[in-house]
Amino acid sequence: MRFSKTFIKTLRSAPKDEIARNGALLSRAGYIHKELAGIYDYLPLGLKVIENIKNIIREELNKIGCEEVMMSALQNPELWEATGRFSDQEVDIWFKTELASGGVLGLAPTHEEPMTNMLKTYVSSYKDLPLYAYQFQTKFRNELRAKSGVMRGREFLMKDLYSFHTSEKDLDDFYEKVENAYNKIFERLGIGDCTYKTFASGGIFSKFSHEYQTILPVGEDTIYYNSDKSLVFNKEVFEDEILADFDASKEDFTEDKGAEVGNIFKLKFKYSEPLGLKYTDDKNSEQFVYMGCYGIGVSRLMGVIAEKFADEKGLVWPETVAPYKYYLVGIGEKGQAAAEELYKGHEDIILFDDRDVRPGEKFADAELMGIPTRIVISDKTLADNKAEITNRATFETKLVDLKEIIM
Ligand code: ATP
Ligand code: MG
Repeated sequence: MRFSKTFIKTLRSAPKDEIARNGALLSRAGYIHKELAGIYDYLPLGLKVIENIKNIIREELNKIGCEEVMMSALQNPELWEATGRFSDQEVDIWFKTELASGGVLGLAPTHEEPMTNMLKTYVSSYKDLPLYAYQFQTKFRNELRAKSGVMRGREFLMKDLYSFHTSEKDLDDFYEKVENAYNKIFERLGIGDCTYKTFASGGIFSKFSHEYQTILPVGEDTIYYNSDKSLVFNKEVFEDEILADFDASKEDFTEDKGAEVGNIFKLKFKYSEPLGLKYTDDKNSEQFVYMGCYGIGVSRLMGVIAEKFADEKGLVWPETVAPYKYYLVGIGEKGQAAAEELYKGHEDIILFDDRDVRPGEKFADAELMGIPTRIVISDKTLADNKAEITNRATFETKLVDLKEIIM
């Protein structure tokens, strides 16, 4: 991308009501635009980050046999009434809307009900199972507080996966595969070493569900971990009786802040029973389908990664999620001509700052935007056929042969 050709501009200040650092930095650096509290537009750079995160998730889920779908945002209340989840008393974050022809629809805060119901059309025999369907979908939640930038949206992007099985054993096995996939995903996103599987409440057969918590000072959750972080609990389950089952007690744990980037649940028949998702087994008798569900907050992850790595100069993206790998600047007439040459054929990995502004302004924007590697070609570096390469995270600088910069 050529800087001169995009409508993006970096901004001197963030929206004045944006108190979260991720929201402020992402706004100033031209990744997002704030519409309202918890409601954001994703601009070309921001969308690239979102797509990179999605692709990592997609690759790891496809490897374990998951199939991608995209379900509707507008919801039939009848499905949610069947599980008792349409009432505002039961679920207090609904956005609801009215049909011109009469009647109310919901805007999906999650998709267990429609997914379970949709599969009634396609699942009838044990031969149809197991199956694993997921989507990347905009969810709507009327969150009371939306002060954490893209980490808590009223409209946000979630990856939600649902699994369907004929036995508890099969569900358990798949749950483990998802755990492995999640580890790989968080590793590839650059937050593997600070993201922990955490015991949480809400399990259907076991006592627990699991959350994936990234340790972060501005995280909204409180978590407790032991010295090697092999046991992590969220606040809901950090109780003496529960810890006793793990041969642990409260004083073995350190309290910290976390951001929940994902969670996984064994649902058993919680949705298949009220919605009537059944199959006939090999003895021709009807059974309810076992279910699991597995979420990841895609737009929240963008905020968490931004918060995790940002420094006083701006954003710092891990290479795997960065919108571009290189930020290219040419200085002087020959430097600019050589930069043009280097840019050719690498338009998808280089953000070429070809604007007619001072180098200092370009460097400041490169730092604010957090592109992993800055390449500067000047008349001086050209004298040795080299360019200056600077690592955004460490500020390490070296001279590299022009031919060897982009591999
Ligand atoms: P939280 O406790 O943070 O409200 P939740 O338990 O309501 O999360 P789920 O309903 O399980 O979350 O949603 C799955 C994932 O979606 C969460 O793990 C989180 O990463 C993300 N998520 C949930 N709510 C939001 C939100 N308002 N904005 C952005 N991401 C969210
Ligand atoms: Mg919530």
